[in-house]
Amino acid sequence: MRDGEDFVVNGQKVWTTNAVHGDKIFTLVRTEPGSQRHRGLSMLLIDMHQPGVDARPLKQMSGASEFGEVFFDDARVAVTESLGDVGEGWRTAMLLLSFERGASGIGQYTEFRRQYDEIVDVARRLGRDRDPVVRDRLARVLTELECLRLHAMHVLTQVEQGRDLGFESSMTKLQWSEAFQDLWEVFDQVLGEHATLDEVDGVDLRPFHAQALWSRSVTIWGGSSQVQRNVTAERVLGLPR
Ligand SMILES: Cc1cc2nc3c(=O)[nH]c(=O)nc-3n(C[C@H](O)[C@H](O)[C@H](O)COP(=O)(O)OP(=O)(O)OC[C@H]3O[C@@H](n4cnc5c(N)ncnc54)[C@H](O)[C@@H]3O)c2cc1C
Repeated sequence: MRDGEDFVVNGQKVWTTNAVHGDKIFTLVRTEPGSQRHRGLSMLLIDMHQPGVDARPLKQMSGASEFGEVFFDDARVAVTESLGDVGEGWRTAMLLLSFERGASGIGQYTEFRRQYDEIVDVARRLGRDRDPVVRDRLARVLTELECLRLHAMHVLTQVEQGRDLGFESSMTKLQWSEAFQDLWEVFDQVLGEHATLDEVDGVDLRPFHAQALWSRSVTIWGGSSQVQRNVTAERVLGLPR
């Protein structure tokens, strides 16, 4: 709701990464009362150190609290604190999301490839590298990772040529998140009956278990896989809704 030169914001947002540490929060807010769907939204940069903003941590199954739930109760923000034009927040959100979904492919590949080598090392130590099913799964994941590398190089070329990442970033998100999840499913398969092991041959497996748990979330945040498939079908391939 607008009040002079401010907006007064009410609402709630769950799953905000680092919510309890933030000084400011970008918030997609309906600033035109009665507007529908993607219209009438604004991307507002709200100060979190003010009365009416409450960030509460969420406890994860790993014990950590990286995420929070933020409550806005008559929080105030100046109309000038809008990223992009007032009422054009959806356009800003789509641009930001194209970077979140699409710009990180090569970094993801580099990290995942290192993790892959570490999982192969664990498989060797446990003698699981001789299991034909495990070998097959490892080979499939390696193929996925190499496809990710090539796709990431394509994305870098697009950026270098000054092109927008656009809706194709949904394909990048799908590719890296599903490859990452497959990678950590193979880890579970490598451990097999040793699923609860915390250490093998002096190698600390606790960070591995943490990654395996984390991998379950990556097909949700930044937009779920189902939504990425819809975007790819409608906006990239031009299929009917
Ligand atoms: C670990 C984690 C970190 C996060 N960090 C942040 C953050 O920092 N900032 C932030 O703003 N948000 C963050 N989120 C929120 C995240 O962006 C949303 O959870 C995600 O976009 C899914 O939206 P939702 O939870 O509302 O699920 P819903 O939209 O309710 O979806 C529920 C189910 O329905 C399916 N579905 C929904 N719509 C469609 C459709 N049109 N077609 C087919 N299937 C559909 C989904 O795929 C899903 O399976 C985070 C979430 C997680 C899990």
